[in-house]
Amino acid sequence: MPDVARDRWGVAPWRIDFHPPELSLPASIDVAIVGGGFSGLAAAAWLRLISPQTSVALFEASHIGAGASGRTGGLALAESAAGDLPGLGDVLAGTAGILQKLGVDCDLQLPGAWEIARGDAASQPLSVPARFAIDWRDSGALRVVNEVPGGTIDPGKMVSGLAQAAHRLGTKIFEHQPVRAIEWDSQSTLKLSGGNVRAKKILITTSALSMELSGLAERVQPRLTLAASTAPLSDEELSRLGLIERKPFYTVDLPYLWGRLCSDNSIVWGAGLVSPPESGDLRDIDIAGADASRMFASLERRVRSLHPVLASARFTHRWGGPISFRENWSPAFAHHPRSHDGFVLGAYAGHGVMLSVHLGAWVAEVMLDRRQLPEWGRIDPAYRR
Ligand SMILES: Cc1cc2nc3c(=O)[nH]c(=O)nc-3n(C[C@H](O)[C@H](O)[C@H](O)COP(=O)(O)OP(=O)(O)OC[C@H]3O[C@@H](n4cnc5c(N)ncnc54)[C@H](O)[C@@H]3O)c2cc1C
Repeated sequence: MPDVARDRWGVAPWRIDFHPPELSLPASIDVAIVGGGFSGLAAAAWLRLISPQTSVALFEASHIGAGASGRTGGLALAESAAGDLPGLGDVLAGTAGILQKLGVDCDLQLPGAWEIARGDAASQPLSVPARFAIDWRDSGALRVVNEVPGGTIDPGKMVSGLAQAAHRLGTKIFEHQPVRAIEWDSQSTLKLSGGNVRAKKILITTSALSMELSGLAERVQPRLTLAASTAPLSDEELSRLGLIERKPFYTVDLPYLWGRLCSDNSIVWGAGLVSPPESGDLRDIDIAGADASRMFASLERRVRSLHPVLASARFTHRWGGPISFRENWSPAFAHHPRSHDGFVLGAYAGHGVMLSVHLGAWVAEVMLDRRQLPEWGRIDPAYRR
């Protein structure tokens, strides 16, 4: 499996600072986790924290954070893409508490987030002091129409911190170990290139990738979403842009645009979804290809026209990452269609930064029979225990 981080999807500005020690594959394990993004790492760390006697191994096809988690924009959003869901609780506070208990420092800041819009919606902008107010041009005046709970994280620090916590708590982490197939049985077997591993329970968190394995094929739509970052600005320039309060922002109407400030005053911008090629495999998309190049050119043009401060903005990074959507926009959080001892978690529809950790801890508790799965996460209505 190619190392997507270096090959085709470009390089995000985040730094992932974790390398697991070399280990030999165990013959068997209590819980096997497939995928080393926020979901898999949070589930692994939480499992070991609350049940140190449970053995846990995590298998990542490439390197930790190679998927969406190491490529995300890192906006900390409340609830889910489908809004609040029964039993979900407070996602922002819940995740902040989990990160704190796991000792993960990822520069989590929750100053709130701006919802921005054009047209009629923007004719009644939220009343905020001028130096905190976005007033940009993007097919019409783009202004703040609402403030919602939210903020930002440093994705590199969150991936690394969760991996360090999982490792410190005793998870065996294997990089460059794609799970090629699973034989579902009373004790299921994961097929890896280095050998086979039997597991009592298996959690699959591969999200927009390996959907045959997760049982999500035909249940979710995979896409590659694009992001780019501009070089750092001065505080005075940020003030003129209305960003001095460091609140992330996203449009509530189309064409979609989102962004956030980073600690060095660079800005990450996002817009644009690339559909999978005929193979259906997002790994075959090259961001240097025609579709993605056109979208980057259009994003860069839009950003430069938003405000005079950005007119000669220099773009330092361009990258893409996998993202998956369900029709009803709620996450997939369910038993695997093939086994009651298999679990699937993912498909957050671009809303997974906080939700993945919140639900990662929840699924850990489900695997220990301490909590139930929610109805809204079901992926196979025909499934019966
Ligand atoms: C550009 C971009 C911007 C985003 N911005 C935001 C945002 O601002 N706010 C927000 O809330 N959400 C955002 N998201 C979404 C958010 O990043 C994701 O929902 C979240 O990271 C999902 O984490 P995950 O662990 O479920 O999946 P991933 O991080 O994708 O992890 C899945 C892992 O599984 C591995 N894998 C795949 N197949 C196999 C296999 N066969 N065997 C072993 N391992 C395998 C992959 O290599 C990958 O590392 C964004 C996503 C992208 C791509």
